[in-house]
Amino acid sequence: MNYHVLTLFPEMIEQGLSASILGKAQEKNLINLNAVNIRDYANNKHKQVDDYPYGGGAGMVMQPQPIIDAYDSIVRKLDHRPRLIYLTPQGKTFNQDMALELSKENSLVFLCGHYEGVDERVVETIVTDEISIGDYVLTGGELAVMVIIDAISRLIPGVLKNDQSAETETFHNGLLEYPQYTRPADYNGLKVPEVLLSGHHENIDKWRKEQSLLRTALKRPDLLEKANLSTQDLKILKKILQK
Ligand code: SAM
Repeated sequence: MNYHVLTLFPEMIEQGLSASILGKAQEKNLINLNAVNIRDYANNKHKQVDDYPYGGGAGMVMQPQPIIDAYDSIVRKLDHRPRLIYLTPQGKTFNQDMALELSKENSLVFLCGHYEGVDERVVETIVTDEISIGDYVLTGGELAVMVIIDAISRLIPGVLKNDQSAETETFHNGLLEYPQYTRPADYNGLKVPEVLLSGHHENIDKWRKEQSLLRTALKRPDLLEKANLSTQDLKILKKILQK
């Protein structure tokens, strides 16, 4: 996966994604990160990239020329026009299904806005997708793109030590993940559920399934409506909710 991030703050992206699992994934070339400074493409003497909004109003707007030229420079290096995702609070709210879909691309370009955002002609001409990370407003798209790159990258084979861990996790099958415990088995009198110490895999799987259904029903009932539950799951759910 090759990520290209168009930003006014490339160091923020490079530093933010250099540690831990994503840092190692870059070392192993499982993911490549190219943070492109939009300012390098400004074709004016002062490298200005923003200007006042036509019609008046607060703040500054990012100009179209440097952004479009920065994107074109990436297109010239590739043999196709990759998707250009603009991070914006006006976009579709990011979720796990979108992460999975995006993880299948070879190259993705992200555009981080700043100030009041970008000139609408950028959105009209080169943007293919608009994504938001939630219903709140950030100062820039950099934190949002890091969230998205993190969520996509852990779905790329080899990035996680154990690829299976993404398969049992929250949202993978539309449910929240079961509770997890580690050593010690007794922490100041707080005990790990007996079944997890039993070594009986069938019982452990059954317990985990029940817990997953139960906590989804309690914490995120909205997810249950969309989850693809089997008749067996529905029976278990009915039984545990009656307890
Ligand atoms: N004036 C814009 C509006 O009202 O829609 C908001 C601009 S915001 C202050 C500056 C930049 O931060 C945006 O261009 C976008 O790139 C980023 N941003 C802010 N909130 C975001 C969110 N919830 N999700 C993704 N990106 C966001």
